[in-house]
Amino acid sequence: MILLQNVFLNNRVCDILIDKNKITKISDKINMQADEVIDCRDKAILPSFCNTHTHASMMFLRGIGEDKILFDWLHQEMFPREAKLKPEYMYALSRYAILEMIKTGTTCFVDMYFHVSGTLKAVQEMGLRAVIPYLGMDFFDDKNTENDIQRAVQYLEEPSENSRIKKVLSCHSIYTCSQKLILTFVELTKKYNTYLQLHVSETQKEVDDCVQKFGCRPAELLYQWGAMGPKTLFAHAVHLNDNEIQLVKKTGTTLAHCPTSNLKLGSGQMPLQKYLDAGLKLTVGTDSVASNNSLSMIAEMKLAALSAKNQADSVLVGKVGDIFQIATKNGFEAFGIKAGEIKEGNLADFILVDMNNQFLLPNNNLKSNMIYAADSSCITDVFCDGKPVMRNKVIPHEAEIISDFKRVCADLAA
Ligand SMILES: [Zn+2]
Repeated sequence: MILLQNVFLNNRVCDILIDKNKITKISDKINMQADEVIDCRDKAILPSFCNTHTHASMMFLRGIGEDKILFDWLHQEMFPREAKLKPEYMYALSRYAILEMIKTGTTCFVDMYFHVSGTLKAVQEMGLRAVIPYLGMDFFDDKNTENDIQRAVQYLEEPSENSRIKKVLSCHSIYTCSQKLILTFVELTKKYNTYLQLHVSETQKEVDDCVQKFGCRPAELLYQWGAMGPKTLFAHAVHLNDNEIQLVKKTGTTLAHCPTSNLKLGSGQMPLQKYLDAGLKLTVGTDSVASNNSLSMIAEMKLAALSAKNQADSVLVGKVGDIFQIATKNGFEAFGIKAGEIKEGNLADFILVDMNNQFLLPNNNLKSNMIYAADSSCITDVFCDGKPVMRNKVIPHEAEIISDFKRVCADLAA
């Protein structure tokens, strides 16, 4: 058991008891023998972030292919470089991504990438939660389709040794995946009772191409293919028309809002408030560092808030409470993880922030300070599943993780 003493929570100072992986008691004073007592004077506790769309191992592509639109960026800059990736690089790349996520207060991420065994190992070792898919991307080649299906089944059949990791499936998009691949992955997610993740309606070009090829829009097509539902996540979903918004609502599909990536790649602005008003399940993702260029959910919240106000031309949208909730609680909830709020019975995923940090004073509104003023320097401790993954700003093996990453980057650049 871990006892947090004198911690600031929702405008009061209290004690919080962590038993195994859960928050079991929150009270003004807890008099109980704990294995470890942490004095949290001048610290506040907040839920950690859930980053619902990223490609963790793309860390080596930070700063590559700047100032290009998505289609050119992908085909000219990303795919050729990614072709040089080898499975043995992925552990070092993923560890480095996780290092950045921990420092910026994220304890759960939804990944979408290749050669996942290195990522799985990194997540296991570093103590985070993750939703890790087998990623299908067949480029409409029958041989690739069969290969992807076979590997997806293999991946789901292998028992997961870790309760913090959810094995899911991903189809990259409707412009890189065949109908057969998507339909089969839909069947497999049902059979194995797991989740499906796709990039959907990221750009107007994707929508126009879909209308030309299939006579309907991307979300309408995926609805016809049975690919929408409470266990489906659409990344980006920038360009949904009113009918598609209704389909998302009706099926309980989750959306990952990636405001930085959308703006940076010229994909457009998702109408956040329109989706919230329609009752859609919104979450926040950073996308990869190749299009962000960081994995900081703190920075992502600020842009989500500001771009919503700009997009709707109204200060009444992108409210502090809404933005904080979609970056925390909604993300965990979408994957059936009981976290994202500091309350008894929830999993002990949380961050401690230094209330003497220059960005958090004066403490008139902590969530507002986190969204509009703070950066990761205010985070002192990060706990995931009841265990510290960063204590007093120290993450185990940090120097080694960095030197390993630099070695792999040099290999890939050669
Ligand atoms: Zn993406």
